[in-house]
Amino acid sequence: MTTLLIAEHNSSTLSSATLCGLTAAQAIGNDIHVLVVGKNVESVADEAASLAGVAKVLCANADVYEYALAEPMGDLVVHLAANYSHIIAPSNSESKDFMPRVSALLDVGQVSDICAVLSAEQFKRPIYAGNAIATVTALDATKVITVRASSFDKNIKQNDQKCPVETIDFVAESVLSSWQSDDITESTRPDLSSASRIVSGGRGVGSGENFALVEALADKLGAAVGASRAAVDAGFVSNDLQVGQTGKIVAPDLYMAFGISGAIQHLAGMKDSKVIVAVNKDEDAPIFQVADYGLVGDLFAVLPEMTSKL
Ligand SMILES: Cc1cc2nc3c(=O)[nH]c(=O)nc-3n(C[C@H](O)[C@H](O)[C@H](O)COP(=O)(O)OP(=O)(O)OC[C@H]3O[C@@H](n4cnc5c(N)ncnc54)[C@H](O)[C@@H]3O)c2cc1C
Repeated sequence: MTTLLIAEHNSSTLSSATLCGLTAAQAIGNDIHVLVVGKNVESVADEAASLAGVAKVLCANADVYEYALAEPMGDLVVHLAANYSHIIAPSNSESKDFMPRVSALLDVGQVSDICAVLSAEQFKRPIYAGNAIATVTALDATKVITVRASSFDKNIKQNDQKCPVETIDFVAESVLSSWQSDDITESTRPDLSSASRIVSGGRGVGSGENFALVEALADKLGAAVGASRAAVDAGFVSNDLQVGQTGKIVAPDLYMAFGISGAIQHLAGMKDSKVIVAVNKDEDAPIFQVADYGLVGDLFAVLPEMTSKL
């Protein structure tokens, strides 16, 4: 039995979520092949070839794969599927697009967002916005799985000797959709999904201008900036900063929440953080139930003071 792990990358390097996916693949226990898909991604394939536990890297390099559209990605994975008992990918916006398509075309169920591997057939995954963990047994011949990266270790060793890299000649035809444009927010701060420190602001921050206080502390800490949905909906910050059930799932070493009440949908995205610090002027705010350190206070006094003392 062999597992196919579909790599997440930015066309030049593998993401840490791919390493977490590899840890999940190792726990399943099969031989592991890594599939690198994109345009000009030979260096990424080369990087994947040195990861411990990888038996072979498959590299599909073509114009049609440049933007990871669901149809060509799905067709490619289905083309390769017969050789694999497990097809897994880190849970991200691209895999949320193409993996259900793979499952549908293979006529099998999908096990989404697993947070633990119990055996090659049994997995744990969060349900009810993370308030309960379901144990799921998948009996389909091909198991299509997405992996919650924050639940798996990203510390993968490098092998001295690289495994073989095989070029995949199959070029899918993309006819249903086409790429129009990307609107990318440039930031010098760490990526929110993989940052080890996050400073988040909620509705209590009051305005987009006031978010400068959150950003100043984040910059002092070398942290990413996050936000609650209320802050995003109010237009204080862009929606790619949203943490929670319908935002990013994060598990940094340090999560600092300013003016965030702690609704379950927000907690669903950050409660696995190692150390949680909450500042809220309402001593009954639910965020204090998950906080390791809670401070009842006005964020407009606390934030500048913390930033100046660091
Ligand atoms: C289907 C669904 C999905 C959702 N997904 C998400 C999600 O992914 N992420 C998410 O965050 N939410 C999500 N929500 C929304 C969620 O239910 C809450 O509405 C939201 O998290 C509230 O954001 P908030 O804590 O910033 O705002 P509020 O609940 O309004 O809390 C603001 C807090 O700021 C405090 N405050 C105000 N002024 C100050 C001050 N000067 N100093 C200190 N504290 C102050 C207040 O005491 C209060 O606790 C979802 C909701 C639904 C229904």
